[in-house]
Amino acid sequence: MSTRTELSALGEFGLIDRLSATATLRQPSTLRGIGDDAAVLDAGNGQATIITTDMLLEGIHFDLSYCPLAHLGYKAVAVNVSDLAAMYAIPQQITVSLGISNRFSVEAIDELYTGIAQACQAYNVDLVGGDTSASRQGLIISVTAIGTARQDEVVYRSGAAPGEVVCVTGDLGAAYLGLQVLEQNKAEYLANPSMQPSLENRSYVVGRQLKPEARTDIIHELRQLGIRPTAMIDISDGLASEVLHLSRQSKVGFAIYENTLPLDPQSSIVASDFHLVPATIILSGGEDYELLFTLTQTDYEQVRKAGLDITAIGITRAPLEGCVLITKAGQAVEITAQGWQAFKD
Ligand code: ADP
Ligand code: MG
Repeated sequence: MSTRTELSALGEFGLIDRLSATATLRQPSTLRGIGDDAAVLDAGNGQATIITTDMLLEGIHFDLSYCPLAHLGYKAVAVNVSDLAAMYAIPQQITVSLGISNRFSVEAIDELYTGIAQACQAYNVDLVGGDTSASRQGLIISVTAIGTARQDEVVYRSGAAPGEVVCVTGDLGAAYLGLQVLEQNKAEYLANPSMQPSLENRSYVVGRQLKPEARTDIIHELRQLGIRPTAMIDISDGLASEVLHLSRQSKVGFAIYENTLPLDPQSSIVASDFHLVPATIILSGGEDYELLFTLTQTDYEQVRKAGLDITAIGITRAPLEGCVLITKAGQAVEITAQGWQAFKD
């Protein structure tokens, strides 16, 4: 009898592990295949080409009732550039593939491409191709981004060692809070279409959800200082999931200190309005597109003195010590991969 296994039994990461088992690498030029933020290809002369792809689906990743198409176009590019940044790569080109239902007008697609063009300018990349297809329902947008780095400077998820400083860029949790605000406004609007939802004092968190930025600025600053993280990942799924990826691939434990987690002042106000605990949102919320990385103590000192937009949130340790959050009360709580879905239910 044939068996049927539900996808939910494997989960996204279990499924990717299973698929990657079938991906035999035959080309010597494939330096890194599945398993990091992007693939790394030998481009000759010690150079590498870095390549990544991400797909956004209407109804799953975005809701056009509150996400302007121009912002969506910008975001679709930014999330890919973010994966290149996570490899310490400089972005160069993108391709854009669309599935469009007849619900969309030419003007709507123009608006989407206005956002894509803005992102190309902001990240200094060229749109060099793509594909266009009809879709039965809704909008699908898939972007591939290509970047470059020297082979010996690419940063993988696997390079951290015990006793290093764990860092993040910017602040965390705002994108998830922005989504809560947008969903609440939508529900209120559907219940009472005459009311005008107010975004007063909430524009920062909403902006973080609708128009995230990739932190290529930090990569340029680190490069200027001659500092290379030992391991790095971008924060797309929430800090917990990303810490566990670095831990698994670098074979080190992590201690993260709750009282150091960077939160924008507006995020703490909105979190308390929604009766949400900031640490929980940061660990499980996702979509901040900040960078999580590890630095040697000496490199961290240099970065701190240079005043980059970076916060130290913890330390790496022996693998057997595992991954924990040290709460404000001083308790060590094991970090588990709650992930997006579990959090949403
Ligand atoms: P990220 O969140 O950084 O975009 P993902 O979690 O989406 O990374 O993917 C992790 C790794 O698995 C990446 O190397 C990605 O290229 C690979 N991957 C994801 N989906 C597939 C798939 N359907 N087939 C092959 N590789 C995949
Ligand atoms: Mg990533």
